[in-house]
Amino acid sequence: MSKGGCCTREYLARGKDELQAVVCNCCGRRMRVDGGVLKEDCVSVDHVFGYFSSRDGMRHHFDLCESCYQKIIASFALPVEEKEETELL
Ligand SMILES: [Zn+2]
Repeated sequence: MSKGGCCTREYLARGKDELQAVVCNCCGRRMRVDGGVLKEDCVSVDHVFGYFSSRDGMRHHFDLCESCYQKIIASFALPVEEKEETELL
């Protein structure tokens, strides 16, 4: 996972790149981080637009807290594909 150049994640400036904060792009809420570890679920999207896009070569990144993610998928015409993961990462 890339840790650089992301405005919604704050890392300690010096020394180890310990995670300090993750901010939800949708509601602006700072998610709970304790000892460099994010303590709540966050949907992280990192997308590089390809050749057929008007944003060709642009990279977009955003983080969503779980409640904003729920609101966004509720507006989908088709529900998200849901599968139970046996091995949690
Ligand atoms: Zn949010």
